[in-house]
Amino acid sequence: MLTELVLASGNQGKIAEFRRLLEGLDIQVYSMKNYSGIDEIEENGVTFAENALIKARTVCKATGIPALADDSGLMVDALDGAPGIYSARFAGEQRNDDDNNRKLLQLLEPVGEAQRTGQFFCAIAIVLPDGREYAVEGICRGKILRSLQGSGGFGYDPLFYVEELGKTFAELTLDEKNEISHRGRANRKAVEIIKLLKSEE
Ligand code: IMP
Repeated sequence: MLTELVLASGNQGKIAEFRRLLEGLDIQVYSMKNYSGIDEIEENGVTFAENALIKARTVCKATGIPALADDSGLMVDALDGAPGIYSARFAGEQRNDDDNNRKLLQLLEPVGEAQRTGQFFCAIAIVLPDGREYAVEGICRGKILRSLQGSGGFGYDPLFYVEELGKTFAELTLDEKNEISHRGRANRKAVEIIKLLKSEE
């Protein structure tokens, strides 16, 4: 029976979001920041799912507690899926959102409207101390605008336009974004797995 979960993330926003999704389930949710001895994890996988699994395995091993990790990014069709797993450091190791958005706009300058399509992708891995491993994913399709629009969110949000809503991710409330986003979709699938594990004897 699953009663504790450690998140392989120090991102307070993600931790708060996950705690809210698990409310009422009587599961203690910890951040890996509460544990010493977990060094910077080298994400050397070639897919989002591999990187999520690498993080979850490392944190599960270090803590002895079921661990959950996510990995996400933007895949642009006209760039053959780039920036993909390199989304955070697309424009360099400084991991700066403005620089990343500027680079994306430059690369897509010659690309016409119909081809400016892409998706946000999120993989979530859950690893248990007994060796069981689970991975789920969520996708949200959209278009890449020619200039920033909206002031909310983070990362590539101001450039990512969702046609059904007529808005960019940066123009949505957190709840609206969670409803349709790659992370929201993957999170809800992960919660289903956690509920099943919780109900085991
Ligand atoms: P991480 O998996 O949360 O570390 O995200 C990796 C990178 O992908 C971020 O630094 C962003 O550049 C990009 N990214 C992932 N999810 C989103 C999102 O919901 N909005 C905007 N950018 C995102």
